[in-house]
Amino acid sequence: MTIAARKIRLIMQLRRAGINDTDVLSAIERIPREAFVPESFLDQAYEDLALPIGQGQTLSQPQVVATMTQALRADRRLKVLEIGTGSGYQAAVLAQLCRRLYTIERHRELLSVAEERFARLRLHNITCRAGDGSKGWPEQAPFSRIIVTAAAQELPAPLLDQLAPGGILIAPIGRPGAMQELVRMSRRDTGFTEESLGQVRFVPLVEGPTSVGGARKTAIEAAVDAQRTGS
Ligand code: SAH
Repeated sequence: MTIAARKIRLIMQLRRAGINDTDVLSAIERIPREAFVPESFLDQAYEDLALPIGQGQTLSQPQVVATMTQALRADRRLKVLEIGTGSGYQAAVLAQLCRRLYTIERHRELLSVAEERFARLRLHNITCRAGDGSKGWPEQAPFSRIIVTAAAQELPAPLLDQLAPGGILIAPIGRPGAMQELVRMSRRDTGFTEESLGQVRFVPLVEGPTSVGGARKTAIEAAVDAQRTGS
């Protein structure tokens, strides 16, 4: 089957799964997912599967990317913050639907690969930063939309602080290695409202200093790795 045919099959699957926002579907259609997956997984670029991207991290399943993107209600006029650039795929899709996408990744190696992809695809409205996304991006705040693509047990307070009035934040909340709840927080004049969008499984949001070349691990990372491997 050609890439074009696989892509159409995926779009049909997403439609059947309840993704009906045509802007979201056409953003997914425009971004070549094959440019964001490791070469050995090229065959599976248009399967509805999460794929490994190195450094123990994963590129989310298309259905999860589509659900989160649709739930975020992005808009051409808005400024969006993503935590966890990973492969850059979610950022590339969202960048089609907003004015400027700011994205933070703690693994420098992953970030530099993602930056090359953005340049090659001429996605010029994406701004990247290496660092701990749980602190948000104070210099660029507030954001109308925030999407967290790694799971935290509790939502980091700086992210809620950096959400603009009327803003929407989407994040998986729960323990690493378990199913987590995808929540949507909306900022109203009177405070925040929260709704559940279902169950997901994301890699953990690792707070604290950025790792250096993967060689040195922080105590938190070592603990998370031990938990993941059951060691
Ligand atoms: N959105 C990505 C998938 C993310 S996987 C994509 O489309 O491919 C989660 C990513 O979050 C990983 O790359 C991981 O390194 C990153 N991450 C984990 N904790 C982080 C933190 N505190 N700050 C920034 N990035 C973080």
